Formats: sequence, structure tokens, C-alpha cells
Amino acid sequence: MGININRRIPIEQEKRCSKCNITYPSSFNFCTTCGQKLKSTQGRVYANMGKNGVSSISVKSGKVTVNSKGRITLQIAPGISYTSAIKKKK
Ligand SMILES: [Zn+2]
Repeated sequence: MGININRRIPIEQEKRCSKCNITYPSSFNFCTTCGQKLKSTQGRVYANMGKNGVSSISVKSGKVTVNSKGRITLQIAPGISYTSAIKKKK
């Protein structure tokens, strides 16, 4: 047992008005159209934390996530994904 840390830290975060379906940058707190409190949405850029800090960066674009270590993850269905690695010479 140890301390659990969030190993995926969103770098880029967005906020969304569920009423107007408008996305705002994370610096916004309220919808400029209807005044409703904005809800945070999942960020698209993640820092993957390792033991010595940031180990890699993941960028999510639709169903595809590209990792800075050369891994591509394709989301097939909720909870199911396929990961393939780009071959790299050492
Ligand atoms: Zn709104």
C-alpha cells in the first residue's frame, strides 16, 4: 500500500455550458450567454506521471490518443481500446 497519485494530469482543460453546448477555456467560470456555471470537461492533453515526474505526454484527438513515447491508442468502445507502438530504433 502506498500513496496513490493521479498519474494522468490534464494540461489543457476546457469548460462547457451544458445548456448552450458551448466550450470555454478553463479560465471561464460562467457561461457568457446564459450565465450558468460551467462544467469542467476532460482535457485533451495529458501529462503521464512517473516516479521521476512527467514521463510522457498524451494528446487525445477524437478516438485516437498519441503518446510522446510513440504509442497510439485507439478507442474502440467505452472501456475497450487498442494500443500499438510506433517502432523506434534505440
Ligand atoms: Zn450557457
